[in-house]
Amino acid sequence: MDKIVLVTGGSRGIGAATALLAARQGWAVAVNYAQHSLAADEVVRSIRAAGGRAMAVQADVADEAQVLRMFEQVDARFGRLTALVNNAGIVDRAQRLDQMDIARWRRMLDVNLLGSLLCAREAVRRMSTRHGGAGGSIVNLSSAAARLGGAGQYVDYAASKGAIDAFTIGLAREVAAEGVRVNAVRPGLIETEIHASGGQPERVRELQHLVPMQRGGTAEEVAQAIVWLIGEAASYTTMAILDVTGGR
Ligand code: NDP
Repeated sequence: MDKIVLVTGGSRGIGAATALLAARQGWAVAVNYAQHSLAADEVVRSIRAAGGRAMAVQADVADEAQVLRMFEQVDARFGRLTALVNNAGIVDRAQRLDQMDIARWRRMLDVNLLGSLLCAREAVRRMSTRHGGAGGSIVNLSSAAARLGGAGQYVDYAASKGAIDAFTIGLAREVAAEGVRVNAVRPGLIETEIHASGGQPERVRELQHLVPMQRGGTAEEVAQAIVWLIGEAASYTTMAILDVTGGR
C-alpha cells in the first residue's frame, strides 16, 4: 500500500520537520499551508531533491470549502490518503481572559479545533473500512498547555488543545474497529516561529528553566514522535497522547 500523508501547516516549524522526516521514511507528502506558499514550495523542493514525492496544497483549515478542495487535490495527485497530521495551529498575543474579545476566541477555535475536526472527517471518509478504505492513522497536535492551562497568556489556546485531547480519545474509540488509529502528540516548549507570531519571540529562552531537561525542544524531536505514530511501527497504538516536553 502506498504511504500517503497530508501534513496541515507543513510549510514551517513542526509540520515542515514532520514532512521532511516522513518523506525520508518513504511517505508521499502533501504539504498544506495557509499563506506562505514560498515556504511550502521550499519543503517540497527539498523532498524532491532527495528523491521523495511531495506536493504543496493551499487551504485555510478553518474554511470547509478550502479543506474539501485540498483533499480532492490530494486524491487526484497521490490517491487515497493513509495518514493525516493535524498540525496547523495558532496562538495569539499573551492576554488575560478579561482582556480578550470574542473574535480572537472564534479564530482560535476555528483553526485549532474545527480545522482538526474538518480534516479528520475528510480523512476518516477516505481511510475507514466503513467507507471502503484500507485503514490509516491520524495524529493530532495538542499542547502541554492542555494540561498547564496557559494562565495569563492564552487560556483560549489551552482550551482549544484540551478539546483536541478529548477529540483524540473519542475519535480513536469511534474508528478503532475500522482500521483507523488516532493519537495525539503534546509538545512542550519547542523552538519555532509560533512564539514570535504570539508576540513572544524569546519565549523558549525565557521559560526553559521551567523544563526539567532545562532546554526547549526542536521541531525535529517532535517530528520523530509524530512520524512514529503515523507509521506501521505504531500498529497497536491508538488513543495515546504522547508528551514531548522534556519532562514538563
Ligand atoms: P508555526 O507557527 O511555526 O507554523 C504553523 C504552520 O501552520 C505554518 O505552516 C502555517 O502556514 C500553518 N497554519 C497556520 N494557520 C493555518 C490555517 N488556518 N490553515 C492551514 N495552515 C495554517 O507552528 P509550530 O510548528 O510551532 O506548531 C505546530 C503545531 O504544534 C500547532 O498546532 C501548535 O499549537 C503545536 N504546538 C507547538 C508548540 C511550540 O512550542 N512550538 C508547543 C505545543 C504545541 P502559513 O505559514 O502558510 O501560515
